[in-house]
Amino acid sequence: MIIVMSTTASQEQISVVTHRVEDLGLHAHLIGGEERTIVGVVGLPLPPTLDEMFESLPGVERVVRITKKFKLAGWDFHPTKTRIQLGNLTIGGDEITMIAGPCSVETEDQTLETARAVAAQGATILRGGAYKPRTSPYEFRGLGERGLEILARAREETGLKIITEVMAPADVALVGQYTDIFQIGARNSQNYLLLEEVGKGGKPVMIKRGLSMLVEEWLLAAEYIMAQGNPDVILCERGIRTFETSVRNVLDVSSVAVVQQQSHLPVFIDPSHAAGKRAYVEALTLAGVAAGADGLMIEVHPSPDHALSDAAQQLDFAQFAALTPKVRAVASAVGRTYTVPAS
Ligand code: PEP
Ligand code: MN
Repeated sequence: MIIVMSTTASQEQISVVTHRVEDLGLHAHLIGGEERTIVGVVGLPLPPTLDEMFESLPGVERVVRITKKFKLAGWDFHPTKTRIQLGNLTIGGDEITMIAGPCSVETEDQTLETARAVAAQGATILRGGAYKPRTSPYEFRGLGERGLEILARAREETGLKIITEVMAPADVALVGQYTDIFQIGARNSQNYLLLEEVGKGGKPVMIKRGLSMLVEEWLLAAEYIMAQGNPDVILCERGIRTFETSVRNVLDVSSVAVVQQQSHLPVFIDPSHAAGKRAYVEALTLAGVAAGADGLMIEVHPSPDHALSDAAQQLDFAQFAALTPKVRAVASAVGRTYTVPAS
């Protein structure tokens, strides 16, 4: 349910409404628009007479019941597109945000070299896994805290923001000491205790779409994070599992359009984990931008064939540098921008 306050409602009238909501054991989310404030009400059970109770309060214009399952992630609660501000970086604006970096943090040199190379091509966020969810327990599973230290070192040197995966609720506090954005991996995207923990973690969260997740389930996963009071959620389409075996996963480009229609949250695509092979990364990247993605997450490694994880899909520096002017061209064709710094 949302309570739409009138354009002339006073702060006091708004706070009477929010206190009344809390007194009923429900949660009030204040959404301050340019003209008016909306109070989003979530929680159960919603008493059947709630509409009348609030409609008569001073300063209330109308009360609207929302029947969609995802409320905070949907447009009804939040009629403007979410923009996430990280220092001077805006995510969800006209500029396409580029996240790039290795699949895994392997060494300091590998990470720093990559950070410099991607920053020179317009990336503003460095990726790199320190805790890796691997399909086999015998594969490289990341450097743990040492990996986080290396990412922080790369941030210090290049000014890039960092994003890294957190796999367990118990690790949220530690990863949060280093990272600028928490990444929730595809395999963990329905780990609801983890989602709640990053919801309380005080930093933006990027949630990958699970391998067999419906768009509605994905938005509900975002809702878990937002219901803990964290509005800064980014969705990332990274390919879903189908009968097709020629690619690692099938990039569901249509999900970008669907999410943009159903949610105000920024949506990114990760062409690397969809493609599984570097030869396909460029086409999928450009398709994602053309479909309206707000950002990209691309794996880049100084020597992809020697990478300790996802060797087949990572781009080398030259391949990444060849891709970014095309990103800029497609972005501009769809009314967006992508800036490559002058060298
Ligand atoms: C990753 O980005 O490193 C990763 C493991 O991706 P996903 O969770 O999409 O498989
Ligand atoms: Mn990877």
